[in-house]
Amino acid sequence: MQIEEKQVKPDIKSMLPEEIKSAPALSGEPQYRAGQIFKWLSTGVTSFDEMTDLSKTLRTKLKDNFTLNTPVLIKKQISKKDASEKYLWRHTDDNTSETVVMKYKHGNAVCVSTQVGCKMGCVFCASAIGGFIRDLTPSEMLDEVIFSEAEYKKQISRIVLMGIGEPLDNYDNVVKFIKLVNHKDGKNIGMRRISLSTCGLTEKFDKLGELNLQLTLSVSLHAPDDETRSALMPINKSRGTEDLFSACRKYFANTGRRITFEYTMIDGVNDSREQAALLAEKLKETNAHLNLIPLNIVNEREFRPSSKENMLNFIKILEESGANVTVRRSLGGDVDASCGQLRIRSAQT
Ligand code: SAH
Repeated sequence: MQIEEKQVKPDIKSMLPEEIKSAPALSGEPQYRAGQIFKWLSTGVTSFDEMTDLSKTLRTKLKDNFTLNTPVLIKKQISKKDASEKYLWRHTDDNTSETVVMKYKHGNAVCVSTQVGCKMGCVFCASAIGGFIRDLTPSEMLDEVIFSEAEYKKQISRIVLMGIGEPLDNYDNVVKFIKLVNHKDGKNIGMRRISLSTCGLTEKFDKLGELNLQLTLSVSLHAPDDETRSALMPINKSRGTEDLFSACRKYFANTGRRITFEYTMIDGVNDSREQAALLAEKLKETNAHLNLIPLNIVNEREFRPSSKENMLNFIKILEESGANVTVRRSLGGDVDASCGQLRIRSAQT
């Protein structure tokens, strides 16, 4: 019996212009072709035939040698309270991922998912329900930006890697996606307009720092003490907060880029005066900025947001110590905007 080997064609939307240029299928083509093709890919074309300034022969060659996938929008929720919209996409293998678009004073931001499901198991987060399925490819993340922008019908100027998944657990694909979306011939989103959020995979901090990308590294802290952080975030059990803070100090020393700590305020869990005082100390030591986030209620979880009074007391302690604090507007609460909520809701219906 002869076993026919199925050849996997390279995914062209995951390739940078220089990689397209050196692909064997394009040998003999003029140098500028790769740039031309790369530009087309970022416009959201769904077939090579839409690349109308390429010859028919070249389009056929591209079809024969590369894969070009497009996600299908299967659910859309529009917020009644603010201008956020949430999209659920189906990929070619039937897995789904979600993207949120949020409107800010200075432009529109896309919250990109980096994996299908998540391994990290943070107890307040909906992404962990259902476990981890697979990494998203660079092109699937790029498609979240391209097709969300088309659906939202307004330009996207910011990207936050804060959707489902742990970006540093899908390091190579995420770095590639960042390079693709930042490319001047692509979506051209400036590095300073990109934030990458991690639960603290500290072993990747040095590697990321060495790339010296000018993006913002956000660290989901949620508690300054080991007891609380380990109860909320399993990742903390294996390394502890001291490892995290020291990796943050090193990242800042190496890159000169201030880290932002994300802190979701949960009633009676991480909103005490003692925690505020310890947090203030840690912020000073790491030169970090703090972003307080009101908890988004996830039906499957028992946690509740801190009261306004507790939040104000917490902020007062931090500000008195000179900490740099902002409180994030909770956008998209009515569109299941918290990580993973739409995907779960969709799987249940
Ligand atoms: N894995 C990455 C990125 C995804 S989560 C990380 O952990 O940073 C993006 C942010 O939303 C994280 O700060 C996460 O802790 C927070 N988050 C998750 N569930 C939330 C909820 N129910 N309410 C408020 N913030 C939540």
